[in-house]
Amino acid sequence: MTNLQERASLLDNADALSHKIEEFSLPKDTIYLDGNSLGPLTKNAQLRAQEVVQQQWGQSLIASWNSHDWISLPSIVGNKIAQLVGASANSVVCCDSISVNLFKILSAAVQLQKTEKRRLILSQNDNFPTDLYMAQGLSQLLGTNNCELLSVASNEIESTLEAKGNDISIMMLSHVNFKNGAIFDIPKLTQLAHSKGVLVVWDLAHSAGILPLDLSAWNVDFAVGCTYKYLNGGPGAPAFIYAAPRLLADLQQPLSGWMGHKSPFAFDHDYDKNTGIEQFLSGTPSIISMSVLDAALDVFNKVSMQAIRNKSLALNEFFQTCIKELIPQSSLSLACSLDHQTRGSQISFKHEHAYAICQALISHNVIADFRAPNILRLGFSPLFLSFKNAYDAATVLQDIIESKKFLHTEFQIKHKVT
Ligand SMILES: *Cc1c(COP(=O)(O)O)cnc(C)c1O
Repeated sequence: MTNLQERASLLDNADALSHKIEEFSLPKDTIYLDGNSLGPLTKNAQLRAQEVVQQQWGQSLIASWNSHDWISLPSIVGNKIAQLVGASANSVVCCDSISVNLFKILSAAVQLQKTEKRRLILSQNDNFPTDLYMAQGLSQLLGTNNCELLSVASNEIESTLEAKGNDISIMMLSHVNFKNGAIFDIPKLTQLAHSKGVLVVWDLAHSAGILPLDLSAWNVDFAVGCTYKYLNGGPGAPAFIYAAPRLLADLQQPLSGWMGHKSPFAFDHDYDKNTGIEQFLSGTPSIISMSVLDAALDVFNKVSMQAIRNKSLALNEFFQTCIKELIPQSSLSLACSLDHQTRGSQISFKHEHAYAICQALISHNVIADFRAPNILRLGFSPLFLSFKNAYDAATVLQDIIESKKFLHTEFQIKHKVT
């Protein structure tokens, strides 16, 4: 055994989360470093998928809306997520996608700020594109006199709040940057924004289920997140919305569908909103997907987010040590922060052949992903990865870099989804 293998083995033996792998249903001999993009299947979710289709839908049919409480799923799942993001009960609901949820929240927040004639939605210019697109769409709809996106570099958010705070209605940021894993300080920026009268919307796509969060204590106004990444809800699983309970009474979101009505089954002519977080619901929830997500969330039972964060950092650090020792003089350059406080659970490298390297890794059953133009992204999900997995992945990467295997033509073919 090499020194690194020995260290991996020691770390695995001391790992308090190592038993969690048993709860996942992963293909053999695959090292899955893409839980940050699509979380893997849990055994519990697999069972629920069969149950909800065969028994609930197949046998109980429409009665399941009551007998299996399908109608409450958005709230039940919302409350499970609330516990993972430090939100109080009944302040999170599960519905739609992040994109659609951002539209609802941004519209409602712009409305709240209307009397103040604030016009700008402040965001980071390297935000996940859909966040920026949704703000641009809203600006188109409302006119730039009422709403306009102002995107600046991540390191200019604070100074922009200081300089233009009075013109900003909403600050919309992604907690963890999807490309380089950089983390914003939620409590600090939220406080600064509030001191300027700005409402905050945090996108938790790359932090829910992987970083300790405390939305209530941090006084966050709104948050959105998806559930198919670290929450392992399955492809296209519905997203979630958080709104601070203190704001609920005054909000009016524009997608005023019947599920957000105070009493949907009264079939009233006029919209009268639900006064709870359910006011963010629009149409009929996707029950099969939401049921699978509901079961998937059980993997977080009896695990603290701090324990998950600790192992995530330890995995990151060990993997970086492996890279340093195995591929010391490589053309791979680190594209993420080395500082624990400011990095999520992914390691990103820059390389001109990042796409081909990623394809070569996949051909060796090390599943990573690529983000244009030149980022190789490796996600370390602590609930199903071991330190041995990190070591093995590093040796595969070493082989690919040293042999220059990535130059083979088969690895240059671009797929629709990277
Ligand atoms: C993954 C991701 C999204 C995805 O949005 P959907 O509308 O759910 O497809 C949005 N924002 C960020 C920051 C993401 O990482």
